[in-house]
Amino acid sequence: MHLDQKVSLKALHTFGMEVEARYFVEAKTQSEVLTLLNYRQMIHMPILFLGGGSNVLFTRDFSGIVIKISAKGISAVETDDGHVLVSVEAGENWDEFVQYCVNRGWSGLENLSLIPGTVGAAPIQNIGAYGVEVKEIIESVLVVDINTAKQRRLTNAECSFGYRDSVFKNTLKGKVIILNVTFKLLNPNLPTYQLTNLPPYQLHYPDLQHELASMSIAAPAIADIREAVCRIRRRKLPDTFVAGNAGSFFKNPVIMKEQLDSLKATFPDLPHFPNQGKGTIKIPAAWLIDQCGWKGYRNGDAGVHPNQPLVLVNYGNATGRQILDLANQIMESVKQKFGILLEMEVNVF
Ligand SMILES: Cc1cc2nc3c(=O)[nH]c(=O)nc-3n(C[C@H](O)[C@H](O)[C@H](O)COP(=O)(O)OP(=O)(O)OC[C@H]3O[C@@H](n4cnc5c(N)ncnc54)[C@H](O)[C@@H]3O)c2cc1C
Repeated sequence: MHLDQKVSLKALHTFGMEVEARYFVEAKTQSEVLTLLNYRQMIHMPILFLGGGSNVLFTRDFSGIVIKISAKGISAVETDDGHVLVSVEAGENWDEFVQYCVNRGWSGLENLSLIPGTVGAAPIQNIGAYGVEVKEIIESVLVVDINTAKQRRLTNAECSFGYRDSVFKNTLKGKVIILNVTFKLLNPNLPTYQLTNLPPYQLHYPDLQHELASMSIAAPAIADIREAVCRIRRRKLPDTFVAGNAGSFFKNPVIMKEQLDSLKATFPDLPHFPNQGKGTIKIPAAWLIDQCGWKGYRNGDAGVHPNQPLVLVNYGNATGRQILDLANQIMESVKQKFGILLEMEVNVF
């Protein structure tokens, strides 16, 4: 392992700001992560664990140690109930892992194709797309406590998953490193799969249905679903190599039915998705931001994507502070117009 000083993070996060880490080290195995924790007891300075850097915004140089988690490894065991348990090291690239599963016909993750980042970060905000959230497929998460170096395996229930949320964003925030994630995938090739009575694929999301129809595929195989998801994403989402971004900057707000009813009186076209649990309703943040006139806004190199108002963009030399200022202005205008508080999805440092 190499501890380097004054390392540029520009190529290590998808917003692409020119920021520096005072110290930087890459941990390529689980034991290297654990070794670093021993030093942690001695060195008292801020510490930041980085995966693919696709959900972070740096507003300044980082004055402590950035540890990039790059540990690799995948192992799988078949169960006797039509599933396969796949255990994956935190540093594996997410989409390469999805491809790995699709190649073997193991279903569950195909709708989450092409999401940037690492396996270790996936449980943190319970990544989701095209009608699937990763919580539906996670069996357990192996973590190590940053202060005691003790390891613990959390069950799915102990992860307290919610919409773009988990225990790792709440009580365990900054306290643990995710070392390994175990997924429970369906294996329709196993004879015991018939006993599960489960459909092999999740095809209810309208965009996915339309894409498969446009590909003239009526009975999709797992590779077709991955291909359809990749096509939609390539069309809809800005390429981070062309314009720096971190995907959706804000979460879709979840409100109570009473608030929806009163908003509907003023904004009859307000789109909404009921049944988010406990009588709550999800509102598309993109619509709210668009209604406030932000779509396509640009101030210098900081802007709002012209097709995806949820995505804030660094067109070249925007600073993290400029992106954050823009985010705050958007949140303020949405609050003023709709009385709804937007919450950031991206982790700001
Ligand atoms: C173009 C684009 C599209 C996206 N689309 C989606 C989408 O469809 N759905 C979705 O849910 N998200 C999406 N995202 C967000 C992002 O891809 C996910 O949040 C992803 O899981 C982040 O992974 P990462 O490895 O890059 O995490 P990072 O950005 O490196 O880290 C994110 C946070 O997790 C912490 N962290 C990282 N690894 C560990 C670890 N092993 N242990 C403890 N803490 C850790 C970091 O300290 C940081 O706080 C998108 C992002 C981009 C740029």
